[in-house]
Amino acid sequence: MTDLLPPDDLAALDFPPDVMRALGHTVVDRAVGHLAGIPTMPSRGDVAADALCRALRAEAPETGRALEPLLDELFDRCIPPSFTTIGAGYLAYIPGGGIYPAALADFIADTTNRFTGIWQAAPALVQLEANVLEWLRAWMGFPETARGVFTTGGSMATFNAIAAARERHLGPDIRRGTLYVSTQAHHCVQKAAKLAGIAADRVREIPVDTAYRMRLDALTEAIAADRAAGLTPFFICSTAGTTNTGAVDPLDAIADLAAREGCWHHVDGAYGACFHLVPELRPLLAGLSRADSLTLDPHKGLFLPYGTGALLVRDGEALRVLHASTAGYLPPNQGEFYDPAQYGPDLSRDFPGLRLWLTFQLVGVARYRAALAEKRALAVEATARLSAVPGLVLDAPPQLSLLAFHLEGPGLTTREAEDRATAALVERVTARGDVMLSGCVAEGRYLARLCVLSFRTRRREMEVAVAQLTAEAATLLAEARAAHDATVGRAAGHPT
Ligand SMILES: *Cc1c(COP(=O)(O)O)cnc(C)c1O
Repeated sequence: MTDLLPPDDLAALDFPPDVMRALGHTVVDRAVGHLAGIPTMPSRGDVAADALCRALRAEAPETGRALEPLLDELFDRCIPPSFTTIGAGYLAYIPGGGIYPAALADFIADTTNRFTGIWQAAPALVQLEANVLEWLRAWMGFPETARGVFTTGGSMATFNAIAAARERHLGPDIRRGTLYVSTQAHHCVQKAAKLAGIAADRVREIPVDTAYRMRLDALTEAIAADRAAGLTPFFICSTAGTTNTGAVDPLDAIADLAAREGCWHHVDGAYGACFHLVPELRPLLAGLSRADSLTLDPHKGLFLPYGTGALLVRDGEALRVLHASTAGYLPPNQGEFYDPAQYGPDLSRDFPGLRLWLTFQLVGVARYRAALAEKRALAVEATARLSAVPGLVLDAPPQLSLLAFHLEGPGLTTREAEDRATAALVERVTARGDVMLSGCVAEGRYLARLCVLSFRTRRREMEVAVAQLTAEAATLLAEARAAHDATVGRAAGHPT
């Protein structure tokens, strides 16, 4: 069974229904089998795969092949050498997860393949996407005038926000505009600024306080200095949950400043905005609802598969003015219904709205609130236990669900030694295979970090993470002390 299509008719590309069913069942079996195997997967596959990548280079096949060997290649060869981002122990970076109903929605969207770029081509389907945007709007506390757009991720959401603000505040006079981010902001803001025509010499990096939050005094001064130089401060980007340490900038105070200065206030909530779904946690994000625009990443905190970002803009008209256009070959714009191509750069596109719609319908929002509240609680509990570990210094207790720390001890006499030991701690715990951690350099120091955001991470994985960190920290500090004593001993002329 290699060629599944009629052998005597090369131009025939439609698979017979029974073949499609069989292929579909085969894929579902493999994919669900893969998910069932999560508990035995290493938390980080062996990604030293240069030789494999070279071996995989191949010409396009001239004739069709059988599915099974291709699935073997994918599931046995290509998928294992990767970070296990679907794993319950994935505490590295900002976890995603990838909730199953979204895959079903994509299958439906891809097989029915209706055109959802413009409202007229599939009005009721587009309405489902509009519903989801409306839900996000309400959960984030944005007003009814807000509009949004689904993007491929947080980076593209931020790009669209800067472009909308630039259009509104600067018009064609782009060079006079200046933009403000903290030193801890995600690097996508710098990329997005450049894409939106804001050159690097117009981007100001504002220092942070000891909790890694943007310093309001420094921001105020930077804005004043730019005004005095004849420039036009137009865009302040706060972060609601930084990638390094999970810091939430003082959103309320920055909103006040932005209002006084006539600046657009964007909040990058790619990691943190999801916690606004949980009413009890909203005080942690006070001021978020006042933003002029907000980046959300449903593929992080709403557990969707990668490729799902979103932008909300308080005054939806600013987003529409940026993107709205007409053409002789398109139906005239209507005003009543949400129309994706009028609010985003894409025309033809996939159907992200269905991914969220079907997932929320199947799961229900109550479970989302419970899961997000649990992730925050798990991070807080782990912090309480880790703060009792000798030598482990908490640089950033969780403002949301991310904590960061480093090692100190008698044998670690320099910053470099502490950095190396902390990096070794991340590596040794990850190498054990149960959980994956990652590190970062923040304000000149290497920090180990642990972010709880996968829906699969439960108390069990957190207990493993704490126990392994405790054990490996003790070993590392003992090793460092022994090495140090040996050096001191040698220096003092004692035999070693
Ligand atoms: C992940 C992240 C981004 C970038 O989003 P992508 O979806 O990866 O493009 C931006 N900001 C923060 C705070 C993030 O965590």
